[in-house]
Amino acid sequence: MAEINKGEMLYEGKAKRLYRTDNPDELIMEFKDSLTAFDAVKKDTLAGKGAINNQVSALLMGALGEAGIESTFIELLDETHSLVKSVEIVPLEVIVRYEAHGSLCRRYGIEAGTLINPPLVEIGYKNDELHDPFLTDEIAALMGLATLDEIARIKYLALITGEKLKEIYLKQGVKLLDFKLEFGRFAPRTDKWGGPGQPRIILADEVTADTCRLVDAATGEKLDKDLFRFDLGDVGEGYKKLLAKLGG
Ligand code: 5GP
Repeated sequence: MAEINKGEMLYEGKAKRLYRTDNPDELIMEFKDSLTAFDAVKKDTLAGKGAINNQVSALLMGALGEAGIESTFIELLDETHSLVKSVEIVPLEVIVRYEAHGSLCRRYGIEAGTLINPPLVEIGYKNDELHDPFLTDEIAALMGLATLDEIARIKYLALITGEKLKEIYLKQGVKLLDFKLEFGRFAPRTDKWGGPGQPRIILADEVTADTCRLVDAATGEKLDKDLFRFDLGDVGEGYKKLLAKLGG
């Protein structure tokens, strides 16, 4: 793995692990082969899934970076590892929707497939025990999860990220229906001049078929984690097709 030293494991989540490097501004992110849904009530392992998601996230975050949208992604290290910026994660799940599906339909009885224009942005509390409850901006601020100014910035970044993601996917014949993002506070200890960098909110975590609802634009075939969540088909094949479409 290049010449970067994989140090102590700092965090293990359902789909990824994070390790220290010798640079306090940078971590190594490892994508695991685990598949989980419904707050890990449904679990499985899919050989090769970590490698696919590592590459999909690198391709998408790389393209977002070229479009001027900063994320934690720095570079691919090997099949399942990427070098990322070390951030303080804002414990919010930020969901952007272009069509009604999933929990929006379950919560409100909205017909699946209803177009949403302008897109809807929702925020939820990232907390499995509470099942990631949706929040108002005011409740999130009351809980100290983020300030109202940070939430406004996060929602704006989620919308512009979505516009770019929709365009990237559509060029490859994939339609983005909705997605979840996470953001982090990045306060680099060392910028390119050697001093402390400008603290800022940037896109964090991953952008993959685990976090986006996607269909093949021509056939309507599903290409995302709903294949696993609702036993709708071969999830491995769906993930492989998505990576191939994105040029991986
Ligand atoms: P919904 O609220 O309809 O279940 O999900 C909306 C979108 O956000 C879907 O694309 C879904 O994959 C993503 N999403 C929502 N919550 C989570 C979560 O806890 N983990 C992941 N990986 N994706 C989520």
